[in-house]
Amino acid sequence: MAEIIDGNAIADEIKREIIADTEKLKEKGIVPGIATLMVGDDFGAKMYRRQVERNCESVGFRYIEKSLPAETTEEEVVDIVRQLNEDVGVSGILPLRPFPEHISDSAVINTIRYEKDIDCFHPFNMGRLTLGEPTLPPCTPAACIEILERIGLDFVGAEVVVVGHSNIVGKPVALLMLNRNSTTTVAHIFTSQAGNLEKHTTGADILIVAAGKAGLITADLVKEGAIVIDVGINRVKVLDEEGNPVLDEKGKQKTKTVGDVDFDNVKDKCRAITPVPGGVGAVTNMMLLKNALTAAKSQKGL
Ligand code: NDP
Repeated sequence: MAEIIDGNAIADEIKREIIADTEKLKEKGIVPGIATLMVGDDFGAKMYRRQVERNCESVGFRYIEKSLPAETTEEEVVDIVRQLNEDVGVSGILPLRPFPEHISDSAVINTIRYEKDIDCFHPFNMGRLTLGEPTLPPCTPAACIEILERIGLDFVGAEVVVVGHSNIVGKPVALLMLNRNSTTTVAHIFTSQAGNLEKHTTGADILIVAAGKAGLITADLVKEGAIVIDVGINRVKVLDEEGNPVLDEKGKQKTKTVGDVDFDNVKDKCRAITPVPGGVGAVTNMMLLKNALTAAKSQKGL
């Protein structure tokens, strides 16, 4: 049976480090601050905003909320970003997407000063990441690396397979692994459609899955003794042993959160695995704070 990697425990450890660092910074009169920028009232964006606010409070950061009505023009949103760029109390700016259709993501993201781009959305920072130069790394990919480092893994020469090639997770996590000299393969939807997913995943010492497809990675797709990092977050129906839907006390279909990996079967085959929930997600939240802390320091020349 595999080691179940406790993402919450790792997140708590990082949080303690952030709190200690923040206290030292405060002695120098520096308080890290995160500004969220939301336009409209997307449910997911609101949930994330609340989480960022709570996380900021929990480590002693300043939190600045910019929540604008859906009718706000692109020009007005860009103007708010410019103001946040100039605000010395704001170390990092986090755009909460999706934006309404009339607002282009690029117009907003490209306006953020790259030193305040705490989730590595800006093309300049993505370019630095590609070149292997120091940058504020994207939070979820950085969380994968942080977990692997904290369980004491050596990546050099390791066979790493990333499933998913999104700009947010798959591509940047592959680059971060490549920058650490692992042999990195990226599999994606067309790999699956060509019937080649298993060929790649069964060769992986480290398998990082970010496809957003519950149950995609079954035990036969995993190498014996592999390390499995499950980034996926999927809501699925709870079924009983006969495959019938389970209802709650109000007669509503029960649902639960799962990853992309068939956890119950894969855990018996691999060496270590992150659960969902309680794995990558918890650490991702801390990486945002860590980036804001780094940004606050470097903006003050520390
Ligand atoms: P995207 O939907 O943007 O990307 C998913 C990727 O997986 C795409 O490259 C897609 O290819 C690929 N893919 C889809 N189906 C298959 C398949 N059957 N076989 C191989 N590849 C496939 O999602 P994100 O990258 O933003 O997120 C991935 C997952 O991670 C989601 O479940 C998301 O909720 C979760 N997530 C978790 C976070 C955390 O903190 N734990 C943070 C961010 C995301 P194509 O685009 O060509 O279809």
